Amino acid sequence: MSDIREFVLNHDLFCHHDHHRSFQEFDAGREHYDFRNLLGYASDDLVTANGTATARSPRAHPAPTDRDRVRLLWPKIRATGYGRAVVLGARELFGLEYTPENFDAITEALQVSIRGKSAPQVYEHFVHERAHNRRTIQDFKYDIGNPAALQPDTHPTSYRFAFRFDEIMHMVDAGPIEVVERFVDRPIHSLGQMVGALNLAIDRFRDTGLLASIKIGMAYGRDLVVGNPTQAEAERAFNRIRSRNNFVGGIQQNGGAVNAVEGRPLCDYLFHALMQRAADEDLPVQIHTGYLAGHWGSLAGARASHLIPVLERYRNVRFDLFHASWPWASELGALAKNYPNVWADMCWAWAMNPTESARALSEWLDAVPYNKIFAYGADTSLPWCNVGYSLQAKIGIARVLEEKIEAGYMDEATARAVAAAIMLENGLEFYRLSG
Ligand SMILES: [Zn+2]
Repeated sequence: MSDIREFVLNHDLFCHHDHHRSFQEFDAGREHYDFRNLLGYASDDLVTANGTATARSPRAHPAPTDRDRVRLLWPKIRATGYGRAVVLGARELFGLEYTPENFDAITEALQVSIRGKSAPQVYEHFVHERAHNRRTIQDFKYDIGNPAALQPDTHPTSYRFAFRFDEIMHMVDAGPIEVVERFVDRPIHSLGQMVGALNLAIDRFRDTGLLASIKIGMAYGRDLVVGNPTQAEAERAFNRIRSRNNFVGGIQQNGGAVNAVEGRPLCDYLFHALMQRAADEDLPVQIHTGYLAGHWGSLAGARASHLIPVLERYRNVRFDLFHASWPWASELGALAKNYPNVWADMCWAWAMNPTESARALSEWLDAVPYNKIFAYGADTSLPWCNVGYSLQAKIGIARVLEEKIEAGYMDEATARAVAAAIMLENGLEFYRLSG
């Protein structure tokens, strides 16, 4: 093994993005964890491999995660990035090949590995000891719609949380406004009150001392093209949306949603309100760009270059742009080179496409100062999945650095400095966290 490979494989990681279940949610599912819970994103590839059968007649066919379907479909996906992360994880965790003959042995090994351990101990074991993820930026907790948003002791103390409430970025009715109303416990009848309530919600998260960033995941609900509506235009959209969903005694009075175009000035205005808040507090902004989890998502609106006017306008905001923006990774490299306020992030990218991720990292290192690159984020919901995803990222990073050394572009010491930075130190510095 090369020296740089050994260095990378043994180095701690900063996990820029995860959706780990809370300890309470983890415990609720404890009895049922089996070999399928190692699949992570590979479940998506099972659906893809299953083809149109389930779409045409969903009831006539078993789900792609049905045991027999997994047995049938697994060979088709085991060599994709998602599949290879599962193979790596099962091997590293239990010394077992992820094959149908081993499904029961994997279930047993998984259950043994969590038996007698509290949820915090399980997370300590998998996330810290096995995956060497020293710090994690966790999504979905600081969500205005999450009833457990402000509940303490839901995740390890090494975690910090991203504020996220994408629903306000693609509103067609007053539902999201009512969620904010309930959270801050005050009525919202004007655009000004809406902006005030959003900021009040963010105050509450900030006051925990655990708020890391504002996360924008709106690519799942709309394109990343953000307009510049006037206050009057946003107010008109607010009034239209608010009045369309006027519930009295539980009965909707004025019926019907507005269409997405009518709501857009309000959504864009609120996007800018969040960017302004990020600027005021020097709070990093994480934005989903590129490929979307699941299926049938609209990829056309998700490319990072749609954000150029936003990057131009908020020059004091530090942007952590996600997922290598795959399949537009070169484009993200160019953005990270051109805009001093952009950091390029490979979270989830190694699993989606390991070959393209290695190529992207290699070319970014040729073009972008290495303190602007974040090399890892597992982006998963269960703690043991981080073991496979970490290993997959490390293998890719090591290969790229080996090639740089071999080509004479880096000496060993430089490659080590780069590895330590992109794997851990850049994240600590960016999020102002200690090791
Ligand atoms: Zn995610």
